[in-house]
Amino acid sequence: MTAHSDSHAHLTLEQFDADREAVIARARDAGLAHIVTVSSYLGDAERCADLAARHDFIHFTCGLHPHEARRFTEEVAESLRAAAACPKAVAIGEIGLDFHYDLSPREHQREVFRAQIGLARAARLPIVIHTREAWDDTFAILREEEAAAIGGVFHCFSGGIEEARQCLDLGFYLSFAGTITFKNAGVLAEAAPYAPLDRILTETDAPFLSPHPFRGRRNEPARVVVVAERIAALRMVPVDEVAAAATRNLETVFRLVDPGKRGA
Ligand SMILES: [Zn+2]
Ligand SMILES: [Zn+2]
Repeated sequence: MTAHSDSHAHLTLEQFDADREAVIARARDAGLAHIVTVSSYLGDAERCADLAARHDFIHFTCGLHPHEARRFTEEVAESLRAAAACPKAVAIGEIGLDFHYDLSPREHQREVFRAQIGLARAARLPIVIHTREAWDDTFAILREEEAAAIGGVFHCFSGGIEEARQCLDLGFYLSFAGTITFKNAGVLAEAAPYAPLDRILTETDAPFLSPHPFRGRRNEPARVVVVAERIAALRMVPVDEVAAAATRNLETVFRLVDPGKRGA
């Protein structure tokens, strides 16, 4: 069976409280080789670590979402450092800038994004970036903080060819979500075939962003298959090729292939 992979899900959220283990079992049945459960809110990293410890094919990230930036303190930084030291922690994220919702002041978001890139550099981990309506600021901060040295993933990539080119030039991977299956996918549908096969990942962002025809319903990792199928159709290649590449790329960017290289 083709090995699919979900580079970005939020399995600790309350939307999964009633049936979390069943959701994880369905992901395994769908052929997922990996799920990365991504922390976003305060205290989430510890919950992600617990979940990852109980499932061999789940890894996790630690970080504070830009929506939560105003809650970042030195104490929070310390808890993220501790979580990042867990053997199953694979990245710092999701971190970045969200100028669409502006739930934290922009200046604060920029500061906390920089601080968490610093954490990633110190922990020698890649980063998982959330950016919305903030391309210029995101690229500027990544350059100024020399984030290319650690690399990582632009999650739920939403740009076109020009943004894709800049991400790739910085050495980052592009992770595509259910948004690519929407009728209004727009320029995103051009970016998916443009990106080289060895730089793309697949994700669900579950419980959010259910792909067509499940749009509007709770999403879950098993539906990453639909995302891979859409990318394959856009690239005019077999879905197995996309799934295998996405899984290989996930293992590379999160250093699951040769853990001996972690911290090198
Ligand atoms: Zn996000
Ligand atoms: Zn997310």
